[in-house]
Amino acid sequence: MPVKEMISIEGLTKSFGELQVLKGVDLTIAESEVVCLVGASGSGKSTLLRCLNFLEKKDGGIIRFEGKEIDPKKDDLNKVREKVGMVFQHFNLFPHKTVLENIIEAPVMVKKIPKQQAIQEARELLRKVDLEDKADVYPNKLSGGQKQRVAIARALAMKPDIMLFDEATSALDPELVGEVLKTMRELAEEGMTMVVVTHEMHFAREVADTVVLLHDGNIIEKAEAEQFFTAPQEERTREFLQRTV
Ligand code: ADP
Ligand code: MG
Repeated sequence: MPVKEMISIEGLTKSFGELQVLKGVDLTIAESEVVCLVGASGSGKSTLLRCLNFLEKKDGGIIRFEGKEIDPKKDDLNKVREKVGMVFQHFNLFPHKTVLENIIEAPVMVKKIPKQQAIQEARELLRKVDLEDKADVYPNKLSGGQKQRVAIARALAMKPDIMLFDEATSALDPELVGEVLKTMRELAEEGMTMVVVTHEMHFAREVADTVVLLHDGNIIEKAEAEQFFTAPQEERTREFLQRTV
């Protein structure tokens, strides 16, 4: 099966003042690949995701999206961002809008999808995340797990080519983590390309194709998931696994 490249990153660097957070990251992500990005707090995981979504401006290096280099000076970054869905630790739902209104906001306002069509698609997405009965409630009536599933549905409503998850379950009560991971797992099984920053090593082992360890702004190891956990090549990976698994 030919593997289509979705994103490739070469020599990505990023500093905040004196602090170099990404020190030349190379990473290629294929279509339908699920990459789990792991590493200690402060290693640069969020910064890497934010550079991929152009929420953060890289200093150096190349980011190619579906084979084409993205030049922030020439390309319309909003158009690129439409193709990259992002789910954060904190759900960032609009509190004064219902669940349905949250989901149709960007398709209607940004993509100019007819409202009736957006509503119909939103209802299908709510069914997918097991929240079809919550369309008309406000976010404050939802549990954290439900809010996060709405946030996933909202990102999917833009029909992204890739989904980025930044510790999507870290803020949840332990009993709510499973329902969100289940939604993410189903998305992976449907063939969505995903980059998932997570501390859920079970999820990484079972769902990821590839696991990447970031340490101090460098990729230390990139391996097929089973190999990463059972036969890591790098001493740092072994240390990381000892501390976290
Ligand atoms: P991780 O997500 O792996 O915990 P981050 O990418 O959030 O790591 O952060 C990496 C380093 O960059 C940390 O030392 C953090 O304090 C710093 N950092 C992140 N964002 C900013 C920012 N906007 N300004 C200054 N420093 C930042
Ligand atoms: Mg982070």
